[in-house]
Amino acid sequence: MDTITLGQVEITRVLEWSGPFAPTSAVFPTLTREHWQANESWLSPDHWDPATDMLLARTQSWVLRSEGRIILVDTGIGDDKERQIPVFHRLRTGFLDRLAAAGVQPEQVDLVVNTHAHSDHVGWNTRLVDGEWIPTFPNARYLLHAADATPGLSDPQVHRDSIDPLRHTGQLSTWDGTELRIDANLTLTPAPGHTPGSAVLRLVSGTDRALFIGDIAHSPLQIVEPDHEPCLSDDAPAATATRRRLLAEAADTGALVIPAHFGGSGAAEVKRDGDKFAITGWAAFG
Ligand SMILES: [Zn+2]
Repeated sequence: MDTITLGQVEITRVLEWSGPFAPTSAVFPTLTREHWQANESWLSPDHWDPATDMLLARTQSWVLRSEGRIILVDTGIGDDKERQIPVFHRLRTGFLDRLAAAGVQPEQVDLVVNTHAHSDHVGWNTRLVDGEWIPTFPNARYLLHAADATPGLSDPQVHRDSIDPLRHTGQLSTWDGTELRIDANLTLTPAPGHTPGSAVLRLVSGTDRALFIGDIAHSPLQIVEPDHEPCLSDDAPAATATRRRLLAEAADTGALVIPAHFGGSGAAEVKRDGDKFAITGWAAFG
């Protein structure tokens, strides 16, 4: 099952890429082999490969159907992109076919939310047509926090091929402030640290809640060991504080935690466990 319903909102998971991303020690310098081994029973086989010590990850989009609109949360790596990271370089993943199988044609997408401007979250913002990068979703508005929309702060190549084309067509909407309301069910708030403009999408509908936290956690091991930051974050202390704040909110309100890159069922329910957190259940995504 790739779709769940929370309140009035339907959430569909659309896979782009999955596989071994990098050795855990290269991504998480402060997490030891012992940390991973102590949690092997549930980290393997979906999140960690004990034989190779590789972090297993996915890139995926979350398709939300809310108040009659189709909203895409994060757009993965994209096809044909020139990237330094070998597993992201010049991909051909069939993502648009899987999006179509989920009932979504590109022109039907009303809104795209980029949780931040890293290459694996903005890739399908655009696609290559006749040597030119054009918006993949011709009728969508694209939301990106202003702090991540400033060229020069991150990879210029990513801006050139995945963000600037949206400026040229007038489809990029940058935002700042403490909250951006999208509709009755969804709001965006800043979650800085991983990048200056990282954002969390908060779903509150009826009694159901979810937090689309982007890269506030890269592995579920960071739920039970919340103080460990990947080397991928710009401001590690701020990113860790943001993760703790959002996990505490999820524990206290019963919100489903939906990160960008988890394999397995993709999303977790959490509770407080002393000054850390524990996973109490997993979402029903297949
Ligand atoms: Zn990412």
